[in-house]
Amino acid sequence: MKSEKEIAEEMALVVEQMRLDDIEDNPDIIDEYFDCDCCGQNKCLAGSIEYDGYRLCNDCVLLAETGFALNKIKSVKELIDAIEDRHLADLVKFVRDEEKRENN
Ligand SMILES: [Zn+2]
Repeated sequence: MKSEKEIAEEMALVVEQMRLDDIEDNPDIIDEYFDCDCCGQNKCLAGSIEYDGYRLCNDCVLLAETGFALNKIKSVKELIDAIEDRHLADLVKFVRDEEKRENN
């Protein structure tokens, strides 16, 4: 069994690789932005993914994929609703803390 931390670290690598692959396929994507359906911010298209009609930015993809991997959410709709009413704040904080650690 992998720990939650190991799973989160793996997902961070996978999701970052998606972003790098998008940029490699289409370098112009760096200048292409859209409004994320999850966090509502204007984010780069690189590394974004569409799930069930919702387009998520790379940061939210990381939340979604980590949430799925840790069985904290079952659908992207659940993540979007959770972010709206903040009951997944712990998951968000967990993923953000992991990111900070990697960036240091
Ligand atoms: Zn987002």
